[in-house]
Amino acid sequence: MPIIGLGACLQLGICAHKTPYCTENENSRCIVCKELFDFSLGLPYAHINVSRLICPYNGELIDESNVPMMLPNGQVYGENSIHELTRGDEIYDPHSDQHFALRDVKRVYIL
Ligand SMILES: [Zn+2]
Repeated sequence: MPIIGLGACLQLGICAHKTPYCTENENSRCIVCKELFDFSLGLPYAHINVSRLICPYNGELIDESNVPMMLPNGQVYGENSIHELTRGDEIYDPHSDQHFALRDVKRVYIL
């Protein structure tokens, strides 16, 4: 297994999070903007033209035929998983081991 230096690992991590919109801002929720902006200078940003969302329950692609749905605790699953995890009017969240009322599951819209 190749050994990668800590500096290279840090730079890779920064590149993965850095966007063209990053600026130094200690109130930001972005880790690059908040704490690592000086280290990010001169590094490229992640160039992702097409992002993909993958359902953490069944590994299926989340898209317009398997829309994202959010539980009250913020966990997001594809609609297919929501159907699998629903019993009656209750849904089970395997991530948190909690149950929620199905009426509290909301559709997520991503712009
Ligand atoms: Zn940022």
